[in-house]
Amino acid sequence: MIKEGISASKGYAIGKVVIKTDEEVQIVEKKIEDIGAEKARLKEAVEASREQLMKIKEKAEKEVGADKAAVFESHMMLLDDPEFTGAIEMNIDSNSVNAEKALQDVIDMYMGIFAAMEDEYMRERAADVKDVGKRILNNLAGVKGVDFDSLDENTILVAHDLTPSDTAQLDRNKVIAFLTNIGGRTSHSAIMARTLEIPAVVGLKDITESVKDGDLVIVDGVEGIVEVNPNEETIKKYEEKKEAYAKEKEELKKLINIKTVTKAGKHVEIVGNIGKAEDIHQVLENGGDGVGLFRTEFLYMDREDMPSEEEQFESYKYVAEKTNGGPVVIRTLDIGGDKQLPYLPLPEEMNPFLGYRAIRLCLDRKDIFKVQLRALLRASAYGNIKIMFPMISSVDEFIQAKAVLKECMDELKAEGKDFNENLEVGMMVEIPAAAVAADEFAKYADFFSIGTNDLIQYTLAADRMNEKVSYLYNPLHPAILALIKNTIEAAHRAGKWCGMCGEVAGDERVIPTLVEYGLDEFSMSATSILKAKQIIMNTEVK
Ligand code: PEP
Ligand code: MG
Repeated sequence: MIKEGISASKGYAIGKVVIKTDEEVQIVEKKIEDIGAEKARLKEAVEASREQLMKIKEKAEKEVGADKAAVFESHMMLLDDPEFTGAIEMNIDSNSVNAEKALQDVIDMYMGIFAAMEDEYMRERAADVKDVGKRILNNLAGVKGVDFDSLDENTILVAHDLTPSDTAQLDRNKVIAFLTNIGGRTSHSAIMARTLEIPAVVGLKDITESVKDGDLVIVDGVEGIVEVNPNEETIKKYEEKKEAYAKEKEELKKLINIKTVTKAGKHVEIVGNIGKAEDIHQVLENGGDGVGLFRTEFLYMDREDMPSEEEQFESYKYVAEKTNGGPVVIRTLDIGGDKQLPYLPLPEEMNPFLGYRAIRLCLDRKDIFKVQLRALLRASAYGNIKIMFPMISSVDEFIQAKAVLKECMDELKAEGKDFNENLEVGMMVEIPAAAVAADEFAKYADFFSIGTNDLIQYTLAADRMNEKVSYLYNPLHPAILALIKNTIEAAHRAGKWCGMCGEVAGDERVIPTLVEYGLDEFSMSATSILKAKQIIMNTEVK
């Protein structure tokens, strides 16, 4: 059987399916007659949760260290707390309700208490309670999630969808490709797949129903095709393709240490997009000159609380130092949309991509914003860091964000801490309003970086995550090209530089046009850098 989807990350893989089911368990209130049996059911689910947590904790201690594993300890402590389990049992007893409903009531009560507490540490415990509650609920309903840590080698992960934090947890020594029902090329899990250098096909509509655990599948991430239980001949054909692909990649490595110049001698900067500090190695290994987009929201994911100023400082400093003076453009927190934090519950919105996110959230939550800005400023003493604000739609927002930055500068000065007072402060151009009025913004920003992932979805009103409208999501649409051209020219008119960090920067079809428009900097997944370099070096642009 052959299934067609959207190519999200190139390459070929042949491996065995593991399906990740993550149905949200629906809680239906039921009246219970056999109270004893219901309490026994609860006890069993609590026991199963304890065993799972024990295993996860042991593995985490070995692989990521005791401090990171401590969170599982606190989850286990909650299971051991007679007040917690006792409250659920009491609810079953006195209201004759099913264990699911009794559990949910107690979780809601705890969440309410924690959320109202002054102490930040205690407020953050709300996330623990929620997690533990979900685990018990899944065990009550018999839903098994995938334990990412215990997957076999050569696993092809199949899921309805993967959140960015699921993807961030994947171990590429084990997961060699992934397939999803929904999603588009620029959803964040697809972007992560490119960073991890694992092939991925998304938007396959019903792949979770078309395969079962253990099926052998071929993933063709170049064409966006999946072959389920292929015959010998097909396997052989794909093994050859895989080899040829690896060989081409090897060939491109010759370009690693060569400066990117067009045939007419124009220098163009090629840099990488990263999501965590260690990704810098992959960028440098692939011949990148530095970083054009550090998506810092990934530092905030996969954890129980906000990263502190010190933790963030260490990450930013690490990248700045490793890049040896090369540019490091760090984007401030872009949370919201498809990127959520478990410990920062945001209100449900009709249109999350048009809602309370990114710079809007940061200007509203200066407490969160300032921690990051202080860390960034302090790290700027160690390398060529530039700060970039996401989702800017009005000049006023940019001015406000800079004012908060200035506040942080004044604080650091008063504290006698070092930072680069002249660091460049730029903005993403990813909202059509900013691209159209780029001349206005260029008066204030030191540089632009065009975020085509969002720019295309907003301009063409085509959700970047929705495979049903992916045929409309077209980087070559004349409106998109006009906005890109205007943005680059506006930057140049004001004597500023313009880069691009959306996925179009690495799109082989568009790169020659972008060079012609005068784009100064191309930022992309590390794995796209060498191919882009080859294309740019074949253009004639002066
Ligand atoms: C973009 O929108 O093009 C971009 C680079 O930002 P993100 O993909 O993180 O939204
Ligand atoms: Mg964006």
